[in-house]
Amino acid sequence: MPNDTLTPAAPAWQAQALCAETGADFFFPEPGSSVREAKRICAMCDMRPACLEYALEHDERFGVWGGLSEKERLTLRRTSR
Ligand code: SF4
Repeated sequence: MPNDTLTPAAPAWQAQALCAETGADFFFPEPGSSVREAKRICAMCDMRPACLEYALEHDERFGVWGGLSEKERLTLRRTSR
């Protein structure tokens, strides 16, 4: 998950997140825009498992987290119940 303003309360994995270097724009595209670039970056990010777990635990509804779009996380939540 992109985080331009890391705070002391931010999870430790966010300090090593690739998206912290690229900025948030790719990860929160306008509705209907491609998430391909965000996913490409996520695929290279070592923090992907922790990021996805965090997003699912905190019910993050917007943006690309852990390489999954909003719709993909929703599907994952529904199928893992
Ligand atoms: S998996 Fe993607 S969204 Fe998550 S920290 Fe890495 S680059 Fe950011």
